[in-house]
Amino acid sequence: MNKFSWYEATSKVEAQREANSTVSETIQPDADPEAAVFKASGIDLLDLMKEGLSKPAKLVSIRNIPGMDEVSYNKEKGLRLGANVTLAGITANPQIKKNYLALHQAASHAATPPIRNMATLAGNLVQRTHCWYFRSKELVCFRKGSSTCFAHVGENENHAIMSYGYCVSIHSSSLAIALTAFDAIVEITDKNGKIKLVPMKEFFVLPSVDRTRETILKPAELITAVILPEPKTHTVSYYIKMGSRRSQDWPMAEVAVVAGLSGEKCKTANVVLGAAAPVPFISKAAIDAITGKTINETTATAAGEAAMQIAVPLSKNGYKIPVFKTIIKRAILSLGKPPENVIDWALPDRIH
Ligand SMILES: Cc1cc2nc3c(=O)[nH]c(=O)nc-3n(C[C@H](O)[C@H](O)[C@H](O)COP(=O)(O)OP(=O)(O)OC[C@H]3O[C@@H](n4cnc5c(N)ncnc54)[C@H](O)[C@@H]3O)c2cc1C
Ligand code: SF4
Repeated sequence: MNKFSWYEATSKVEAQREANSTVSETIQPDADPEAAVFKASGIDLLDLMKEGLSKPAKLVSIRNIPGMDEVSYNKEKGLRLGANVTLAGITANPQIKKNYLALHQAASHAATPPIRNMATLAGNLVQRTHCWYFRSKELVCFRKGSSTCFAHVGENENHAIMSYGYCVSIHSSSLAIALTAFDAIVEITDKNGKIKLVPMKEFFVLPSVDRTRETILKPAELITAVILPEPKTHTVSYYIKMGSRRSQDWPMAEVAVVAGLSGEKCKTANVVLGAAAPVPFISKAAIDAITGKTINETTATAAGEAAMQIAVPLSKNGYKIPVFKTIIKRAILSLGKPPENVIDWALPDRIH
């Protein structure tokens, strides 16, 4: 790991005065040797630094800025999550479990309990892709400035099955999948203290648009909160993660469904897939397959089938198609059931 200096920020203004770069920029071949970047809990940032991929000259710790981890819920304004709230904090919040079940489930199934105790919401959103070629210092792939994507011809079982260009990496944040389904808004404060509100579905950047970054964040732009609108009456949600093991790993496939029901009929829906594409993927085909219809085995199956129509798997990840079909169907059929009565489909002993 490179040598770096440390700045412990006690306010947002102080943090933004000290920062001048993003972690994505520090990975590029022409990185600024004086780069100073934000560090929340450091789980992803220190991984990148230990591998020698990111070499910032200064870490600006935002972890202990007072108030940045606050959560508030108001029936009119909805839910406001401070950027530094931990995944464990989201999991433990009863209002989130009651009103935004899919978010509670996404946070509960991510990583491991010790990681969830440390990992912050904003850090989770901004973590870089876990493509194993990207994460190796020796392999300078297309995302790091060369003209080669090693995953195209190599080990691509964890990679994208849709909406990819030359880079077939998948997006890493499970929370972003649920937050996109809830139409969340990211509150970003720039260096001059000006606040901009960016819909979660516009926050992430496809590598075909800009291969050097995964979010729209510019140097010293600080995520200060994520805001979820108050769910309309009869809104229900469900999230499923399927992984190769119960814990300690990113998903091989995940889905969040948010729907407005009237009895058994689906009035509005949002279906978002994770581990499918380089950004959270909103499946219009699955949404169309259930909107205006009665939720039952037939329509839920049709939604999974429709979502996978546009999938173009790589040489080693065709297995994702039946997995996605199954979890989309199961998530839709679980909508509206009280969480304690719902089978936890994420557990491997329930796969059948
Ligand atoms: C074994 C393992 C399994 C995992 N499994 C999952 C999983 O299943 N699902 C999942 O979603 N994640 C998973 N993770 C990832 C983990 O959740 C993230 O690494 C963690 O959330 C990052 O948060 P952090 O606070 O440590 O961020 P940091 O490492 O401190 O920061 C990450 C990035 O965010 C930037 N950043 C942080 N805060 C802000 C802010 N307020 N404004 C602007 N930029 C900011 C930093 O500059 C940096 O670029 C796993 C990690 C491990 C190690
Ligand atoms: S999938 Fe993207 S990140 Fe992975 S090796 Fe290819 S170009 Fe690099």
